[in-house]
Amino acid sequence: MSSDPENELASVIASARELLHWEETLGGTGFPAPKAASPLQTPLGEPEAHEGDEDTVARLQVLADEAAECARCELSRGRTKSVFARGTPDTDLVFVGEGPGFHEDQEGLPFVGRAGQLLDRMVAAMGYARDHVYICNIVKCRPPDNRTPLPTEAAACAHYLVPQLDLVQPKVIVALGRCAAENLNVVPPAGRWRGIWGEWRGIPVMPTYHPAFLLRSPQFKKPVWEDLQEVLRVLNRKAPNR
Ligand code: SF4
Repeated sequence: MSSDPENELASVIASARELLHWEETLGGTGFPAPKAASPLQTPLGEPEAHEGDEDTVARLQVLADEAAECARCELSRGRTKSVFARGTPDTDLVFVGEGPGFHEDQEGLPFVGRAGQLLDRMVAAMGYARDHVYICNIVKCRPPDNRTPLPTEAAACAHYLVPQLDLVQPKVIVALGRCAAENLNVVPPAGRWRGIWGEWRGIPVMPTYHPAFLLRSPQFKKPVWEDLQEVLRVLNRKAPNR
């Protein structure tokens, strides 16, 4: 720790300001919510986003098209639309959630309900434009009553997730919720799982709480901010000052 009282004070003020920004962000006050997703968006991102090289985009689209017709597991029976991804594959940061909910199933895009709006605020607080990250789920079809995907369903859908993440090749993956963390094999056999770096096929993975959990339990927003700051540190980026 620095022995310079002025530096220490500046550091404390900067940390307090960042935390305040984060609190405002999750609380939805003092921070404009990013625009809601449009049903006209393609599964691979909005036109103004960097879309990645043509080959990657084309190969992801082949996977998305296959998932749209997929019947590898029982979840195909109840889906309206399969939900492959949103954002851009030309990014250093990927978020992986559990599975689509009602709104996602209707629109065919991940994280477009209330939890998705909160995730968009988290992304903005990290200093990323909404569509300059890549967002997907462990399973591409909605589980009945939004239950946690079964291990057999997650295993069947790895047919899409594994090549999807291999193609995007981010510098960091954030696993949103325990289900995502378990399926990316970053949950230790015992003890705390959140906030502990893991690795998936050579890519660092930060497991943290799911935005839907934060909506129900906002007291956990501070540890999530700490996890995302860790992610920014590894990416050599800083949260924007307000
Ligand atoms: S959840 Fe995945 S494996 Fe199951 S039907 Fe949908 S796309 Fe296929």
